Amino acid sequence: MHAHCAECGQRTELEPGFYYGSAYVSYAVAIALSVSTFVAWWVIIGFSTEDNRFFWWMGLNALFLVLLQPLLMRLSRTIWLSFFVKYNPNWKTEKPEISERVIEEQMMPAE
Ligand SMILES: [Zn+2]
Repeated sequence: MHAHCAECGQRTELEPGFYYGSAYVSYAVAIALSVSTFVAWWVIIGFSTEDNRFFWWMGLNALFLVLLQPLLMRLSRTIWLSFFVKYNPNWKTEKPEISERVIEEQMMPAE
């Protein structure tokens, strides 16, 4: 992940360990996706106590989430960052705010 936005220069890591919190977002996104695949499976294929369709859904859903992980991680980090950095309509002329919690020696190495 870039240390700063390429367009406006906004720092992407606001404090040391900033992205630990994105795990909560990632969890919520994974649950939402799982509910979606569950409903889609229910409507298209259906569930039954007579066979293993439920376990097929569980296995394929787990595989789906693992394959999507690189995308989900980035999406979750972006959503997490958007909780703390508000959009500035004058971003072209105004410099981004620098958080007082940024300690250069404790930040992740850039790129
Ligand atoms: Zn930007």
